Amino acid sequence: MIDISTIRDQFPGITRDVVYLDNAATTQMHRSAIEAMEGYWRQGRANVGRGLYPLAESAMKQYESARTTIAEVVGADASQCVFTKSVTEGLNTLAFGLRSRIGSGDEILISPFEHHANILPWRRIAKERGATVRVMPMMENFELDFAGAQAMINERTKIVAVTLVSNVLGAVLPIAKLAHFAHQAGATLIVDAAQAVAHIPVSMRSLGVDAIVFGAHKMYGPTGIGALVMAPELIESLEPMILGGGMVDLVTDETTTWREGIQKFEGGSPNVEAAIGWAAAAEALPLLTKEGPGEVSLRSQLVSGLVSIPGVTVFNPPNAIGIVAFSIDGLHPHDVADFLGAEGICVRAGNHCAAPLVQRLSENGVLRASLGVYNDEQDVDRLLEALPRVTAQLR
Ligand code: PMP
Repeated sequence: MIDISTIRDQFPGITRDVVYLDNAATTQMHRSAIEAMEGYWRQGRANVGRGLYPLAESAMKQYESARTTIAEVVGADASQCVFTKSVTEGLNTLAFGLRSRIGSGDEILISPFEHHANILPWRRIAKERGATVRVMPMMENFELDFAGAQAMINERTKIVAVTLVSNVLGAVLPIAKLAHFAHQAGATLIVDAAQAVAHIPVSMRSLGVDAIVFGAHKMYGPTGIGALVMAPELIESLEPMILGGGMVDLVTDETTTWREGIQKFEGGSPNVEAAIGWAAAAEALPLLTKEGPGEVSLRSQLVSGLVSIPGVTVFNPPNAIGIVAFSIDGLHPHDVADFLGAEGICVRAGNHCAAPLVQRLSENGVLRASLGVYNDEQDVDRLLEALPRVTAQLR
C-alpha cells in the first residue's frame, strides 16, 4: 500500500483543504518543474538560437535537452518535435500547413468527441477549400462506432483528426485501427493526445499516426507550451504558420528561405523556461503513475458512488480513463459546481469546449470530475459525500 502523502508532497499546489478534481482542465505543477524553471531564471537566463556566449549556450542546451525528453514522451525523436504555445496552436499549425492538400469536394473526418481546438481549425480550412468536415458516429454507450467510422473513410478523405482520449467522457479511441484505414485511403492521421499523455502510454509508432499534439499543463508542467510531433514527411512538406525571427535561414530584400526541419515551425522567441519545466515534470511522471493509487480503481469508486446517488446520470463509456462526466436531474451543472467549490471541491461544469458532444449528453452541459496522480479515495469520498448535501440545498 503506497502512502499517497509521498506523492501529494511533491505538488506544492495540493493541500488537504482543497479536493482538486479538475485535472482535465489543468493539473497542479510538480515541484521538479517549479524548481527547474526557477533554476533557469536564477542562474541568469538567455534567449536561445542566437547568442554565442556561455549563458546562451547553456540555455540552448537545456532547451534542446527538453525537446529530447518531450519527444520521448511519445516515443519520437527530438528532430520531430516542434514546441508550440499550446495544443491549440499545434492543431492550427497542422490545419494551416495541410490546407494545400485539400481540394473542393474533399473530406476531413473528425470524431464525435473532439475539443473545439480539433474542430474549428478544420472547419475554417474546409470552408476555404470547398471541402466538408464530417463527424464519425457514436454508439449509445458513448463509444466510437468504429464500423460507422470506417465506412466514412473513402478516396475523398484527406485528413482524419481525432482525439486519443475524450476530455469529457474519458473514452479512449481506437487510433491505431483508424490510422490503418486512413492510410489505406491515402489520408493523413492526426491525433490530439492532450488528455492521454498523463494517463496512458502513448507511442507515435504503435499508433501509426502522422502527427500528434499534446501540452505541458495537463501533465504537471507549466502553461504556455505544447508539442507538435510530426512524421518526417510532414516536417519537410508543411508550410509554417508563424513567420519571423528564428525560423528563417536567409532573408534578402526580395527572398526568404526557411530553416530546415522543425526549426521553420518555431518563429519568434520560444518559451524556454516552460520547456525546461515541462521536461522536468515529464521525467517525474512515470514514477508518479507507477506509485499512485491507480486511476482505474478511483474511477470505478467514483462511478459506482455517483450512480447510487438519486437523480445522478453518469455518462460512462467502456474503457474510459480518469475522467467522469455526469448530470443531476433538475439542477444546472454550474450551480452544482459553484456550491461544490464553496466546499473546497473543484470540478468543472459546462460544455468543456466540446459543445457538439456535450449537447448530445445534456441540455445545459455536464459536470466533470477528472483525476490526477495526487488524488486518492478520500478525495473521491469527499465529492460523493458533498453531492447529496449540495443537491438538497439547491432543490
Ligand atoms: N484537446 C483536448 C482534448 C483538450 O482537452 C484540450 C484542453 N482542454 C485542448 C485540446 C486544448 O488545449 P490547450 O488549451 O492547452 O491548447
